Amino acid sequence: MAQGCRQRAEHLRLHALVGAYVDGELTGMRRARVAAHLAVCFACSGYAEALRLIKQSLRSSPHRTPPCPAGDTRP
Ligand SMILES: [Zn+2]
Repeated sequence: MAQGCRQRAEHLRLHALVGAYVDGELTGMRRARVAAHLAVCFACSGYAEALRLIKQSLRSSPHRTPPCPAGDTRP
């Protein structure tokens, strides 16, 4: 199917821009194209959602605490 093939080519091109899109670094046509692609591409919309969650969790905990603080296991 020609349309599916075209969508795949679009996917390969735009997938690399999803990160910049989530960061709000895209403007104009590029932003619109990625937005339109996210609406029809399950893989890219899932990827964008995952990036948003990661960035959100990084933002909500600016002071990163290590999971196993050194010296915390001392008796
Ligand atoms: Zn895609």
